[in-house]
Amino acid sequence: MSLRLHDARRGGLVAFDPLPDRDHVGLYVCGVTPYDTGHLGHAFTYVSFDVLHRYLEYLGYDVTYVQNLTDVDDDMLRKARETGEDYLALGNRWVATFLTEMAALNWLPPDHYPRATQHIAQVLSLVERLMENGLAYAAEGNVFFDVSADPSYGQLTKMSSDAMLPIANERGNIPDMPGKRDPLDFVLWQASLPDEPAWESAWGPGRPGWHIECSAMASAYLGEQFEIHGGGADLAFPHHESELAQSEGAGAPRPWVSHWTHAGMLGFKGAKMSKSLGNLVLVRDLLRCYPGDAIRLYLIGHHYRSEVHYAEADLARAADVAATLRRACLRAEQLSPADPACADPSDLVQPVAGHRARFLAAMDDDLQTPDAVEQLEALAEIALTAEDDAVAAQAGWMVRELGGRILGMRLANVSAPEAAINA
Ligand SMILES: [Zn+2]
Repeated sequence: MSLRLHDARRGGLVAFDPLPDRDHVGLYVCGVTPYDTGHLGHAFTYVSFDVLHRYLEYLGYDVTYVQNLTDVDDDMLRKARETGEDYLALGNRWVATFLTEMAALNWLPPDHYPRATQHIAQVLSLVERLMENGLAYAAEGNVFFDVSADPSYGQLTKMSSDAMLPIANERGNIPDMPGKRDPLDFVLWQASLPDEPAWESAWGPGRPGWHIECSAMASAYLGEQFEIHGGGADLAFPHHESELAQSEGAGAPRPWVSHWTHAGMLGFKGAKMSKSLGNLVLVRDLLRCYPGDAIRLYLIGHHYRSEVHYAEADLARAADVAATLRRACLRAEQLSPADPACADPSDLVQPVAGHRARFLAAMDDDLQTPDAVEQLEALAEIALTAEDDAVAAQAGWMVRELGGRILGMRLANVSAPEAAINA
């Protein structure tokens, strides 16, 4: 079997097929807008894509992972105005917190972590091409994407236009922005208010719209076409739909992206976690009581596309499992030096080989991590109870190989970043 991965545009699981004639696989995941605290829901998204990143590398692909930083937008500027802080300083503060938390969860940092404010030239060049192609219009210092001129708008999320507008409005669209012909048209370039940062453009001083920065940064680092674009499920519309329309409208080869993958939302107390509802669970609070491995294992105990409803009892159970996995690794270390059979599966004994094969089959099936974790637990059980020391050692080393390299667990004692957060 080989990897099958969800693609929202094609509407199902499809074989992962890297683009031809490239020496790397491109993975772009929409990053945070650092104007306020992150929460466990963000961690679910980024841990999910970290597992995808790790699994692709395990399969032998050279992955270029790009995650952007939306460091100028309406939310950032509103918050900076409220707190009297410079918007870039505000962003840097929250980015530092986010990166510390993700380090505690043992993510592989992106290869590129670009900021919107440093890619204005690429944004403006995209806007110009959309104007030339008749897909955009300027009005009152703003430039809008003309949704009515693009018959393929909606190809990603397949929503009716009636369903689109209320969701767009919930997620940052301003339907009555000056100059808009249709409330669903979205802003590519936005005139700045007098107290907002502004960059020169052919349409007057302004700043990028939210969607265009991701189109610009993804192609700046990954080329005109790339393999995987991810983000939280709440970004599918309008953000990703609009990114796709902009990039293909500006001339990117179709399809711009092979796989659109979305991580499910995380809820608590019966509602999606959100600052306004006051039901946030913060990673840094959890790290005071649980090791990073436990939090990571709790998150990947759910398939990445599923909706997760947080309950601390489930996290506590994950902590027990993480401790068992760690004991299995420690037993293996006591019994033997690293087992070379873990690298050369033809030398594996049964039942270790069987659990490894089922683990990999689960991962190939659109990253069914809950099934993969079951196989790890079975291996740990063998490591801790097998009478044959050689079998026990091999099972324990396999827990480290699969749980560490692919699922990203440390399987060791509490590490430096966690200790820093706990201090
Ligand atoms: Zn984005």
